[in-house]
Amino acid sequence: MRFEKGIIVALDSPRFEIIEDLKNEVDAVKIGYPLLLPRGLKVIQEISEVLPVIVDIKIADVPYVNEKICEILCESGVSGIIAHGFTGSDSIRACVRASSNFKVSVFVVAEMSHPGALEFMSSHSDEIARIAMLCGAEGIVAPATRPESIKRLHNIVPELKIISPGVGTQGGSAYEAILSGADAVIIGRSVYETEDVKEILSEFQEEVERAREERRKLRG
Ligand code: C5P
Repeated sequence: MRFEKGIIVALDSPRFEIIEDLKNEVDAVKIGYPLLLPRGLKVIQEISEVLPVIVDIKIADVPYVNEKICEILCESGVSGIIAHGFTGSDSIRACVRASSNFKVSVFVVAEMSHPGALEFMSSHSDEIARIAMLCGAEGIVAPATRPESIKRLHNIVPELKIISPGVGTQGGSAYEAILSGADAVIIGRSVYETEDVKEILSEFQEEVERAREERRKLRG
C-alpha cells in the first residue's frame, strides 16, 4: 500500500457519510467490527469504490482459520488486513500466504496503543516486529501513544512500513509518530466525531507534512 498522505481514518462509527469528505484527503479507511458487524462484508465493496479499505479485525487464530479469514476478506475487496502477531509465525505466515495471492497487504500488530498494552504486549513487541518481517508482512502497527516504541521498532525493522493508531483522542501526536518513523497515522474519533471533517484533516495533514520535512532534514 502507498501512504502518500500519511493518514488512514479509522471508521469505527456509523457516520458512514463522511466517506465523501475523506476522498482524496487520506490514503485509506480502516474498518473493524463496529462497522462490519452491523453492515456486513458488503461495506468493504461500498467503501473501496471511494478509498482503499484496511480491515482491522486483528486476526488471531490458528493458521488454517487465519488463512480462511484472509481469503474471505480478500475476495470481499480489501486492500489491507491487520493481524495479531502474538499468535506466532505460522499464523502470520498463513495470513501472508492467503493475501499475497490477491496482492493484499498484511500489517501485524506489534504493540497496541492503549495503556493495557503495557501489561503484556509491549514486552514482546520487538520480537513480534522481527517475526512480522521474517514472515513477509508489509508492515506493522505501532502506537502513536508511545513514539519511543515507534522509533525503536523502526530501527529494528526499517524495511517494514509502520502504521500508527492512538493519535488525537488517545493522546498521541501525528507529528511525533511520523517523526519517529511511522509511514501513516491512523485516526478515528478525532476525525469522525468532529463536525468539520475536512478542517480537522487539514490540521493533521499539516502535522504530517511538517514531520516529514523534519525527517528529510535530519537525514541530510
Ligand atoms: O478513535 P481512535 O483514534 O482512538 O481509534 C484508534 C483505532 O486504531 C481503533 O480502530 C483501534 O481499534 C485501532 N488500533 C489501536 N491500537 C492498535 C491497533 C489498532 O488503537 N495497536
